[in-house]
Amino acid sequence: MHIEKSHQLHKRAQEVIVGGVNSPSRSFRAVGGESPIYMKKAQGAYFWDVDGNRYIDYLAAFGPIILGHAHPQITAAIFSSSTNGILYGTPHELEILFAEQIRQAIPSMQQLRFVNSGTEAVMSTIRLARAFTGRDKIIKFAGCYHGHADLVLVAAGSGPSTLGTPDSAGIPQSIAQEVITIPYNQPQLLEEALQKWGDQIAAVLVEPLVGNFGIVPPASGFLESINRLAHAHGALVIYDEVITAFRFHYGGVQTLFDVEPDLTALGKIIGGGLPIGAYGGKKEIMEHVSPEGPMYQAGTMAGNPLSLAAGSACLSTLAQPGTYQRLEQMGTTLHDQILNLGRKFDIPLQVNQYGGAFTVYFTEQEVTDYETAKKSDDQQFAQFFQLLLQEGVYIAPSKYEAWFLTTAHTEQEIEMTILAIEKSFKQMKK
Ligand code: PMP
Repeated sequence: MHIEKSHQLHKRAQEVIVGGVNSPSRSFRAVGGESPIYMKKAQGAYFWDVDGNRYIDYLAAFGPIILGHAHPQITAAIFSSSTNGILYGTPHELEILFAEQIRQAIPSMQQLRFVNSGTEAVMSTIRLARAFTGRDKIIKFAGCYHGHADLVLVAAGSGPSTLGTPDSAGIPQSIAQEVITIPYNQPQLLEEALQKWGDQIAAVLVEPLVGNFGIVPPASGFLESINRLAHAHGALVIYDEVITAFRFHYGGVQTLFDVEPDLTALGKIIGGGLPIGAYGGKKEIMEHVSPEGPMYQAGTMAGNPLSLAAGSACLSTLAQPGTYQRLEQMGTTLHDQILNLGRKFDIPLQVNQYGGAFTVYFTEQEVTDYETAKKSDDQQFAQFFQLLLQEGVYIAPSKYEAWFLTTAHTEQEIEMTILAIEKSFKQMKK
């Protein structure tokens, strides 16, 4: 495979863009690559790079592209919206329609506000929880990633853990002290933390189904325990559904599992591929947000017509019957086949799958939290990643990320992917 043009672009990029990338998770450093691949075009389930190579895409832009690339409904919505002006700085009707569309799917978001990224959405829920409770500390779970705001970049998963910087430089110790991090899926440790700091905790923040140390579902009863324990200590529960909302069904993990948080942060899929975030929750809490209440939060680009038009088109398309069954079927096929191939080539691995998303961990041990996810072998993953790339399959360049299926994937791509995995495993065994 020739990737000379990508190499050349990366050399140029490194001169003007720090590290050559606008987000560290796009770098290939964790997988031993000289340079990342520069894409030129994306259509349906495929990417084409600047050297003319084609890849089946399982990155889905780290989640948002659930309908595949350049989906006609989304591009039409963006085009048609843009002809009416792209930013007003005033309220407009689509804000209401789209908020209603989201609230219908996730009723705990009685009121919400649109922002521009998942980071902003989570950051705002935390400020609001602090404003509402008059407390400063939060509890979060090791390996969960909630964006790059100071407070949540402590023991975060995904990009930071891949790069070996679980705590970013530049975060004051005084802020890190306001965060208590405990392992996922262990309610007794949450209980202990709350017993110790309970009256200082504004909120327990959680990815209700983890996407950031790979796909890790909550153990049975874990989410219910979070609600019970947090509320017993007067703390709010915040769900970070930036990855999970509209990923597994038309709604959030909260509506799928029937557990309600006080506040929810959204992003990714709800923008259909354009920048977006949203946060919301119970009306009596949301009423603390400016201009209704004393908690300030604002945004020049917030609620911009293009993101909302793309997001609304995306959700309407996802609402069609059969969408999520198809994604799940493809996820299950890949799950089963990867496990079979692991056995065939005697490569110890785990496949954590939920619906149309899964992660392959090169470890003998079941993965239920960040510690067990870390055990996935770095070198094996890097080799697997590079071999798949050679075979025309693009997955996220980190052992902590998920493969995301899109509605543009078909049986044909799944078969080609299984063949590519088989070839890669064969090579890894040599
Ligand atoms: N929360 C979760 C669960 C995420 O996965 C991410 C992004 N990967 C974020 C928050 C941050 O979102 P953004 O990158 O849009 O700021």
